[in-house]
Amino acid sequence: MSTLSSYKKKRNFGSTKEPEGTIARSGKQLRFVIQRHAASRLHYDFRLELEGVLKSWAVPKGPSLNPADKRLAMMVEDHPYDYRTFEGTIPEGNYGAGEVEIWDEGTYEALQKESRKRDETLLLKELQQGSLKFILHGKKLKGEFALVKMKTEDAGNAWLLIKHKDDYAVTTKYDAEKFTNKTSKVTKAVKAKAARKASPKKQAVKKKPA
Ligand code: MN
Repeated sequence: MSTLSSYKKKRNFGSTKEPEGTIARSGKQLRFVIQRHAASRLHYDFRLELEGVLKSWAVPKGPSLNPADKRLAMMVEDHPYDYRTFEGTIPEGNYGAGEVEIWDEGTYEALQKESRKRDETLLLKELQQGSLKFILHGKKLKGEFALVKMKTEDAGNAWLLIKHKDDYAVTTKYDAEKFTNKTSKVTKAVKAKAARKASPKKQAVKKKPA
């Protein structure tokens, strides 16, 4: 069974321009993409090519270059390889409705190399073990990272995205939103939502008893 069945089940390709996609592979180097997605909530979709699909995590706060940050990353359904170039509008009524743009992309490789073992074989093993270590060669994200599955009983699909200490790491506060296109549709959607939230439409505000 295709690992894309869950992806396909959630979507109506007559209504969204997202790729229907099949299992496909890049050339010599594995690719990654991070999409900034203004859906019901803004989040970043972190996707690693593996075995012809994009293994995917939704990162609510976005990635960080500060090793002190452990960013929650909820593993979601595999996406087709073609999804790595997807940008645009997912129409209302569709799964993940909202605006999508590419925030970063590039190639990646396994951190630990064992002789004669291909990166993909290693990475797949690490994925199954719940601890992926890799090097990103992106425009914004570079150097060593780890994705570690949380082990607590109720963790479900929760992983943590962590930057390793290296020459690309920062020690200052890192906010992915600072490195975005200020006039893009995604930014406009985020701003519109913030404005709606701040508007004086009266909502029952619970007051603490005096
Ligand atoms: Mn998303």
